[in-house]
Amino acid sequence: MDMTDDPRGTTPADDEHSTRVALVTGGSRGIGRATVLALARDGFDVAFCYRSDDEAARTLEKEAAQYGGRATGARVDVADAEAVRTWIGGVEEELGPLDAVVTAAGITRDNPLVLMDDQEWHQVLDTNLDGVYHVCRAAVFGMMKRRTGAIVNISSVAGVYGHATQTNYSASKAGIIGFSRALAKEVGRSGIRVNAVAPGFIETDMTAAMNDKARKDAMKSIPLRRMGRADEVADLVAYLVSGPAAYITGSVLQIDGGITI
Ligand code: NAP
Repeated sequence: MDMTDDPRGTTPADDEHSTRVALVTGGSRGIGRATVLALARDGFDVAFCYRSDDEAARTLEKEAAQYGGRATGARVDVADAEAVRTWIGGVEEELGPLDAVVTAAGITRDNPLVLMDDQEWHQVLDTNLDGVYHVCRAAVFGMMKRRTGAIVNISSVAGVYGHATQTNYSASKAGIIGFSRALAKEVGRSGIRVNAVAPGFIETDMTAAMNDKARKDAMKSIPLRRMGRADEVADLVAYLVSGPAAYITGSVLQIDGGITI
């Protein structure tokens, strides 16, 4: 079936594979967690990974399963290429071929460049950018063989405009945008769509660390005068992997309350 004929935009149904399967990195908390729930709500079986929070993962599995599909979390460091390959191979065997991939795993290690140490630089690049490469590299061949699939990589407005004290994070998130656009050009002819989502300030554990002044300053510059919610980002991601988004690829969708206007 041609991609344009597929009303769901991600995969053709066949006898062996009638439920769509999604893979989400960084699923235990924040935007990734909300994405797991949104995709489960939309009928996907969902496999997600996380770095350390087993308890959050078990709770999420139960919550997502209430939508009727399967949800399974695994402790996998996205910076570890071999671990990612093994995880994705196992997911494809257990749940079936991947229809949607969402890379939400990400970390910050903020410091002005003049004070930044090599570890802070490399940890952020290894997780945020190499992690996206590892996951997409392991997932894309299966999608190409089936000539269908949707990938959404979570970038940041920091990757579009740059944030002071976040040269490492901004570089990783800008890298994700270049990566996603290049991959969209490579695999469009195989029926695969690749998009990036660039959130502004979203209420999660990541932004909970902001001090009062940073929060007040941010609020002043957001026209909508509030931070975003993880479920708002998740709904955008769920849209991007759905049928109505079948003609969207290579895009960078900002969801930021207008902070970048
Ligand atoms: P968060 O609440 O800190 O959650 C991060 C998630 O990523 C957790 O599930 C964590 O697992 C997982 N993770 C971290 N390192 C990992 C690794 N090496 N391997 C596998 N999983 C890993 O973050 P968030 O705010 O939801 O952010 C999600 C994504 O959105 C990130 O890419 C972030 O850069 C991006 N983003 C966030 C904002 C914002 O304002 N919050 C804005 C723009 C972009 P554990 O629970 O096991 O630690």
